[in-house]
Order: sequence, then structure tokens, then C-alpha cells
Amino acid sequence: MQLYQEQKLKVTNSLTGKKEEFKPIKEGYVGMYVCGPTVYSNVHLGNCRTFMSFDMIFRYLKHLGYKVRYVRNITDAGHLENDADDGEDKIAKKAKLEQLEPMEVVQRYTVDFHETLQKFNLLAPSIEPTATGHIIEQIEIIKEILKKGYAYEVNGSVYFDVVTFNKSNDYGKLSGRKLEDMIANTRELTAQNDKKNPQDFALWKKAEPQHIMRWPSPWGDGFPGWHLECTAMSTKYLGETFDIHGGGMDLKFPHHECEIAQAEACNGESPVNYWLHANMLTLNGKKMSKSTGNNIYPSEMFSGDNHILSKPFAPSVVRFFMLQAHYTSILDLSDEALIASEKGYQKLMDALKIVEDLPVSTTSDFDWSSWKQSCYDAMNDDFNTPVLIAQLFEAVKQINSLKEEKSKISEEDKSLVVDTLHNFVFDVLGLQAQQNANNAQTETLEGIMSLLIDIRNNARANKDFATSDKIRDELTALGIQLNDGKDGTSFSIK
Ligand code: AMP
Ligand code: ZN
Repeated sequence: MQLYQEQKLKVTNSLTGKKEEFKPIKEGYVGMYVCGPTVYSNVHLGNCRTFMSFDMIFRYLKHLGYKVRYVRNITDAGHLENDADDGEDKIAKKAKLEQLEPMEVVQRYTVDFHETLQKFNLLAPSIEPTATGHIIEQIEIIKEILKKGYAYEVNGSVYFDVVTFNKSNDYGKLSGRKLEDMIANTRELTAQNDKKNPQDFALWKKAEPQHIMRWPSPWGDGFPGWHLECTAMSTKYLGETFDIHGGGMDLKFPHHECEIAQAEACNGESPVNYWLHANMLTLNGKKMSKSTGNNIYPSEMFSGDNHILSKPFAPSVVRFFMLQAHYTSILDLSDEALIASEKGYQKLMDALKIVEDLPVSTTSDFDWSSWKQSCYDAMNDDFNTPVLIAQLFEAVKQINSLKEEKSKISEEDKSLVVDTLHNFVFDVLGLQAQQNANNAQTETLEGIMSLLIDIRNNARANKDFATSDKIRDELTALGIQLNDGKDGTSFSIK
């Protein structure tokens, strides 16, 4: 008997707008696809929140006993600026700017992405396919859509014909938009070059001579449109219809709407049973975003080297902070909220240590079985982590009263509490318990750095530049950068 047979999970399906009982296509197995990052810059904390939300979902599904195939792609080709069908390729632009090969840009930021997610203790997906590794599959889908009459070729580019598709299908059903309204709102705005209609989107774009990332195709040299890769990779690894498709709320339209249209045009079937959308992380009330610069990077958070927060915060504290909000709610990042999370996190970790040493009695004063079920009820209710965390703090309260010997717990209940706390705190929420060691290490590091900065300042005052340069250079080689400012010297870890 697996846990999923007794714990009935409900999820909010963006396609219907309803909370529905989760029933996978094949009992015991779950196929889940999540749109991955476009690797042309470092991931910011907003991106991390979305991937963390789906990591928590992946973890809970596994905890329930499902065998999950979790596919999360790497977008390493073809996204144009502003996610439009015209403009410059983001990766190629960065490559030009930094004088790198596009694939060097891709490699650099893929490594950063993996390292960052590892710090936040995200599990690796089962498959992490790249868009450039699936050009052939994308071309095959375009051929099929052309054959079915839902696309047209113009001057070496192929566009999806939204108007024709909408005659027999419902374009806009995920985002709740109507094609007629979209057409009415945009008709005047653009002299759309090759498209029959401004709402049509590119499946394949002809590459101009200066375009670097390009592949041969039946329509000439070009590159795939940005919605197509997810259709190609999800179909290849999860089938024409699969259980869960996730991503940030901002991808609902046009990206996911177009994915649905492509798959339906190609296979005649709706590709996904449950669409889950994670909500945004905001800073100063505005969406964190690469393009506006309203963001904070994880490394700046861990080192404290930023203008927004008063101190550094450890990855597990940040993870705890994020999971204190429901994944479908907007969450605003602030110093106060993080400081409160840090305290809460520490209290939880302390209780986890205390519980191991509690004395046992013949009976318990608290109904620990129904407490355990309340933890499951919270997660079964569309992965409600804030309610789960409230339940965990109910346990913390009980544990502290047991410690003061104000109440009793039986041996059997004690092991139930220890197991349940471990399952939810470490396996499901993915928190880690090394915070104390980290804090102590941080203090030691800060002491050593302050000593080195003093020695360097003295050397500079004595014009002993050999010593001061040696300190700076050797620290740089260790990945520690000294920053001289008007208020003195600070350091940051790269
Ligand atoms: P991108 O690399 O821009 O395609 O973004 C990768 C993922 O991060 C997508 O699922 C986005 O929806 C998500 N994302 C972008 N900005 C935010 C934000 N401020 N908060 C939460 N998720 C975000
Ligand atoms: Zn996608």
C-alpha cells in the first residue's frame, strides 16, 4: 500500500481554475514537465522561487510513493528579446557583449543555475533536455502542423495560424483570453511583416546572415520559435498527453497557451491534464525581473553584499521564507520578513534536536496521530506549505512544553513525531539542518577577513604594495573579492 492511496491530493488546475483531485494517467506514475531557465544570465531569486515551488511539489509526489519522471528543460536557443518574434536573440546578444561563443554563454549560466539550485537543496530533475539538442524533433512537429493545415510558410519562416486553429479549437482557454478581443486590441498597432495575423506566432524563423545560432531546415537556415521546444521535449519524454505541466504564472500567456495550441494542432489532443502555475516573487511590490533590474541574486543574499538587506541570509532560511507562502500567492521579499523567517527556522531546528532527547511516559497528553494527519491534510490541499508550517509549529509548541515537563509523550508517539518531522522538514520541504555550523563558519571567516583587511591597510599605509597586492591577488584566486569603498574595504565571495 502506497501513501498516495490513502492521502488524497488536490491541485489547483489553471486550465479549469478549480481545485481538482489529482489522478495520474497511469496509477503510481507521474509525468511532470516544468519550463526551465533561459541561460543567458545568472538566475535571480524570483526564478529560484518558481523552481523551488516545483521542487517541493516533486518532493511531495515522491513522498506519497509516486514514481515521478520530472523533466525540466534548459532553453539555450532561440528566445528573442522581449519574447517576441522579432528582435535579437538574447543568448547571441550576450555572446557579442562578452565576446564569447553562444555556447560558452550557455555553459557559464547553466553551471551557475545548477550550483545555485544545489545551494537551495533542489533535487535534480529526472531529465534535463536542452532545446538545441532537440532541433530535429522541433522540425518534425512543424512539418506535422503544416500538414494538418494549422501553419504557413513565408520567406523561410513558418508561423502558427491562430485564426484557423481557433475555428475548430479554443485558443485562449488557459489564459481566459478570447482571440476576437486580442485581434480587436492589436489590429492597429503593428505592420506585422510576414504574419497573416499579429496573433500568429513563429514556429520557425529564417536566420538573417548575421544571426549566429542557426540550423538547416526544410525552409532554409533558421532557428525554432520559443514555444516549440517545450512541446517537442515534453512529448518526447512524457508522451502526447501527460499529467502535470508547470512554470511561473508569467508563462501562462503566451508561452503555455501556444504550447497547448501546437500540441493540439499536431496530435488532436490536449497535452496536459493539470496545469500548475507558481506565483511571482516581488521586491518593493514589483515583480523581480532580469530586464528591469529589480532583482537580487542568490549570491548577494548569501554574502550580504547588497543594498536591500541588512545582513546575509543562508540558503535554508531563504528556502524556509519562500515556503511560508503558498506557491500560488505573490510573495514580497523584505528584510523584516527574512529576519522573522530566520528566527522561525532556528526555532524549528532547535525543536528537532530537543525532541530526540525527550523523556517518555506510558501515555501522551496530545493527539499526535491527528496532528500527523493535519500535516498531510495541509499538503493534500494543493501543497499548502504555510498551513503545513503552522502545523509544524504546533509540534514545536508541544515539544517545548514536553521539555519543561509540563506534559507527557509515549514512546510510540515520540517516534511518530520524530519520523513525521523529519519527513516533512527534510524530505518534503527540503530544508537542511546545518545552519549553526554555517553561522559559526561565517563568523570565523568574517574575523579572518577583518584581520587580513587590517594587515593590507597597514601595508598600504607603509607603501608596502608588494604585501598589499599579494593579499588582494591571493584572495582573488580563492574567489574572494576585496571592494575598496569610501567607508573602508568590504569583501564578497564569488
Ligand atoms: P526565464 O529564464 O526568464 O524563462 O525564467 C525562468 C522561470 O522563472 C520561469 O518559470 C518564470 O516564470 C520564472 N520567474 C521569472 N521571474 C520570476 C519572479 N519574479 N518570481 C517567480 N518566478 C519568476
Ligand atoms: Zn516552456
